[in-house]
Amino acid sequence: MALLGCIADDFTGATDLAAMLVKGGMRTVQVIGVPAPGDAPPDADAIVVALKSRTAPVAQAVQESLAALEWLRAAGCRQFFFKYCSTFDSTEAGNIGPVADALVAALDCGFALACPAFPANNRSVFQGHLFVGGALLNESGMEKHPLTPMTDANLVRVLSRQTSGTVGLVPYATVERGAGAIRDAMTALKEQGRRYAIADAVSNAHLYDIGAAAASHALLTGGSGVAIGLPENFRAAGLLDVQTDPGALPDAAGHAAVLAGSCSRATLFQIATAKAHVPVLELDPLATPDAGALAAQAIAWMDGKLGAAPIVIAASGTPEKVAALQQQLGRDAAGALVEHALADIAEALVARGVRRLIVAGGETSGAAVTRLGVHRLRIGREIDPGVPWTYAEGSGAPLLLALKSGNFGASDFFLKAFAMLGDA
Ligand code: ADP
Repeated sequence: MALLGCIADDFTGATDLAAMLVKGGMRTVQVIGVPAPGDAPPDADAIVVALKSRTAPVAQAVQESLAALEWLRAAGCRQFFFKYCSTFDSTEAGNIGPVADALVAALDCGFALACPAFPANNRSVFQGHLFVGGALLNESGMEKHPLTPMTDANLVRVLSRQTSGTVGLVPYATVERGAGAIRDAMTALKEQGRRYAIADAVSNAHLYDIGAAAASHALLTGGSGVAIGLPENFRAAGLLDVQTDPGALPDAAGHAAVLAGSCSRATLFQIATAKAHVPVLELDPLATPDAGALAAQAIAWMDGKLGAAPIVIAASGTPEKVAALQQQLGRDAAGALVEHALADIAEALVARGVRRLIVAGGETSGAAVTRLGVHRLRIGREIDPGVPWTYAEGSGAPLLLALKSGNFGASDFFLKAFAMLGDA
């Protein structure tokens, strides 16, 4: 039975958390969307339900999160984790506060930690203020985010505006004194009637201590950083065996391919790097603004090239090309056209025997897994930080997938990823 049940407010954040739990020694499966009530849970120590609730209407985010909680409870989980972004991405209306309020009420636990800190990724919290590197959150660029502009770095204030409860702080000086002091501080805050405690943390050592202090809590909330301490709690309680390879995946022998829809700098570099080594098709949606025709070009090109060595098919364009297509079709229609073409191509690749597939781009990954009917991903070893190999469970042909947020990964990501798998 699963021990830890997680609810993540977006897809790549869910994968990030899942990869962290695997590194900590928990066998982890990511479930895409809320499963039907009767769906049997996967065989895993931790389950992460990936929602798209970060910027959804508040009522919808709350309803989906509660449905995920119910399913995770039925799966036997004994502790729950609400995962949001380490930059606390939210608006005055939510969704972090309202979702956390609903989970606290449903679990009847009265209190939850709120710890977005992720020092290894340059997110630290000091005196309740969130820093991105050396800059306060509201001076980090996040104040200009198109959907969730963060204009206040004081998380006690930010969360207070989103919740019907009150928010306290476990300050640095307490966190420095270790797990016992943190536990006492949280107990005191709860007794004072606080519903949440923002916890300062500027190092992994702090996160381990915070995790240990929350071992008996029904609910934790935060970024994936604070999950670093949770596997050890379960081992210490005798509930989790030491795993030799918690990221072990079944093999999937077959052809290898990369599908890129991200136009982020890292992905453009990765495509350029791959060109020296493997066949690369660069589609031009500006010249052919037709999803079916683009897919047909790719399908004609791939035949005869598929094998153990990867091929790369990319729609990714430079910012100028992307802007030109967006101007021609409108922003949403341009994205939808390319995503449609890439979903067609993903389907064609798998139909032709591709069993090891990298998809570059968050939205692109969403379009591909939807088309491929993938609902569950068993999480394997990390290729680069935040991007593990995964295995699609219960969706027909065996399939290894690496779903990469656009800006993630080093320039040799594609080749490195396939090299990790060895020969088919
Ligand atoms: P990232 O993770 O880098 O943000 P996404 O896949 O989430 O990548 O977003 C990239 C978006 O750009 C997708 O909607 C994709 O369909 C679209 N896109 C890809 N190539 C082009 C292009 N040449 N012109 C316009 N839009 C494109």
